[in-house]
Amino acid sequence: MIIRAKQTTTDEEFEHLKETITNMGFQVKDISGETFKVIGVVGDTSKIDERTLYSIPGVEEITRIQSPYKKASKIFHPEPTVIHVKGVQIGGGTFTVMAGPCSVENHDQIVSIAKDVKASGANVLRGGAFKPRTSPYAFQGLELEGLELLKEAKEETGLPIITEIMSEDMIDKYVKDVDIIQVGARNMQNFHLLKALGKIDKPILLKRGLSATIEEWLMAAEYIMAGGNEKVILCERGIRTFEKYTRNTLDLSAVLAIKELSHLPVIIDPSHSAGKWSMVEGLSQAALAVGADGIIVEVHNNPECALCDGAQSLKPKRFDTMMKKLRLIAPIVDKKM
Ligand code: PEP
Ligand code: MN
Repeated sequence: MIIRAKQTTTDEEFEHLKETITNMGFQVKDISGETFKVIGVVGDTSKIDERTLYSIPGVEEITRIQSPYKKASKIFHPEPTVIHVKGVQIGGGTFTVMAGPCSVENHDQIVSIAKDVKASGANVLRGGAFKPRTSPYAFQGLELEGLELLKEAKEETGLPIITEIMSEDMIDKYVKDVDIIQVGARNMQNFHLLKALGKIDKPILLKRGLSATIEEWLMAAEYIMAGGNEKVILCERGIRTFEKYTRNTLDLSAVLAIKELSHLPVIIDPSHSAGKWSMVEGLSQAALAVGADGIIVEVHNNPECALCDGAQSLKPKRFDTMMKKLRLIAPIVDKKM
């Protein structure tokens, strides 16, 4: 960390600054030049709250050198993390496809979609049981019954299942029943939930918050990893911008940023990004081309009657066509599918 003092800082104030930092347990290196008074702070500065440092008289500018996240950082873990779930690989050169309805609605719906997406080559079945809806009057998911139906679809197809967790009290049940636990965009900064998920041994799909920066997203991953659970998969699902034509704006560059900053696998959700089924194929191809480790896509056998997100759901046939095209592209970008 580098701290630059104001030009008006007196020698006395500058000495006080150095003393304060030393008393916090850090080594202070005076690297002042002719015009500026500057110190370098050596040590693990991750616990320092820079907003507090700005209260020390004379402090003008604080620059962090160290990233605030460690376990999620590539610096401390250069080789990419590869996660294995029930024979499915996520990361490490594979393009993993998770597909299924936004919400589990009934036995026939989830089993029929599971069979279809499996036949098309999907690796993991998605389906919401507990739904984080904007309106309390909207369909909230089948909850525990939805989980049971997902298990039935898993039994019939052999596909591992991913579903969203909304609260800490469900963790034990999810550890038993679910293969990948999804943390939705709205819960990305539910730090109590993240801490609790850090204590279990189960892959977590961490969606990027609606307005989260890449650093905030990686800090959320750090919350899980700090507890000991290092099986985190990141998911870019579009962010809020001024644009209204799409539901969210897919930040494709986030994949490249994550690859530069972190060793964690990162996948794309083209469905919640676009909000329109007609864009899902193009965005999925883009995900593959940009180097994402996979996608999570909404597929519904009867989108017009879907209880949630029908407009962005692919019909099984379109999903199948999309998968065929993705399989053609994959070798060109060095991905296994
Ligand atoms: C979902 O995947 O069903 C979902 C609610 O996504 P998000 O958290 O990205 O909005
Ligand atoms: Mn959805």
